Amino acid sequence: MTSARTPALLALLAGAALGLGVLAAHAQPKPAVTAAQPVDQVNPQPHPPFVANQLAPDLWEVPGAGSNVTILVTDEGLVLVDSKYEYHYDDLMKIIREKVSTKPVKYVIDTHYHADHSGGNTRFLPAGATVISSIRGHDNIVGKVQPGAPPNLLPANVAFTGEMRLYVGGKEVRLQSYGPGHTGTDVSVLFPHDRVICVGDLVHIGDLEKGGQYPLIDYNGGGGINGWIQRLNTISSSEAYDKVVPGHGTVGTKADVIAYRDLLERLRDHVSAYLRDGTKTEADLRNHLVKDEHWPDPGLSIVRSNHGLYMDLKP
Ligand SMILES: [Zn+2]
Repeated sequence: MTSARTPALLALLAGAALGLGVLAAHAQPKPAVTAAQPVDQVNPQPHPPFVANQLAPDLWEVPGAGSNVTILVTDEGLVLVDSKYEYHYDDLMKIIREKVSTKPVKYVIDTHYHADHSGGNTRFLPAGATVISSIRGHDNIVGKVQPGAPPNLLPANVAFTGEMRLYVGGKEVRLQSYGPGHTGTDVSVLFPHDRVICVGDLVHIGDLEKGGQYPLIDYNGGGGINGWIQRLNTISSSEAYDKVVPGHGTVGTKADVIAYRDLLERLRDHVSAYLRDGTKTEADLRNHLVKDEHWPDPGLSIVRSNHGLYMDLKP
C-alpha cells in the first residue's frame, strides 16, 4: 500500500485502504463559535506569529492558531502531526523552515478529520507529502461530514484502521486509530524514542478555562462519550510516554490525560443522572447543560454534542 513516492516502510498491523477524494460543492449554515473550541471556519482569521517549541532534539511543536502541529525531523524528511487550517500553510512552513528544518515534509498525519487539524492536507498533498488518516477520517472528509468545512478540503491518500507504524530515517512512529471518541476518526501518534504522544482533540490541556471544559463530542462524525472515556483509559494506561501534545493548548503529562478522562466521566455521570427518570426531552438536556453545567449557548460544543448525548445516555 505504499505509494511510489514513499520508499520508507509502512507496516500495517491492521486493515488499510488507499483513497482519493472527489470534491463536490457544499453549503451548510455555520454554527456560532466560542473561543478556543475547534472552530468551523473557511475564512482566514488573524493570528499572532507562529513560534516553534523544541520538545526533544528531533521533535518540535508549533502551537497556536488552528491546531498544535508536531514535527519530527529525520534524515529522510519531516513527519508532521496535524497541519492547522489550509490558510495557515504559508506561515506554518515559514516557521518550520526558519526554526526547525529545511528538509522536505514527507508525511502529514491527521489526528482527526476536523479542518482545523486537517486543513493543510489541501496544500501538503500537491506539494508531494503523503497524508495519513484513519479510514473514517478519510471518508468523513469525502462525505463532507463536518458542517462548514472548507469545500476544497482534501482527504488523506493513505488511510488505515487499528495500528500502523512508519519507519522513516531510522526512526519509528506509532499510529493508533480508535473508535468513538472526540470524533470517530481519532488517531494518536507516539514517538517512542522521544517518549512523546500526540493525542489530537482527545485531550484538552491548559485551555480548560477557555472552553476546553465543554467537550465537543462529534456524534455526527462518529464520536461518543463512552468511547472517548475508554480511549483515555487506554492512553493513560500506557507507560510509553512522558509528554502529551494535545490538539490545542499546552504540552502536558499523563496526569492531564487522566484529568480530562475524569472531566468526561463527571459529565457522563451528571447527564445520565439528569436523564434517569425518563421524562426529560432533548430540549431539557440542552437547558440543563447551559444552566447547570454552564455550557456556552450558542456554542459548537452544545450544537454538536446535545443530540448525541441525549440519544446516547437517555434510559
Ligand atoms: Zn476536533
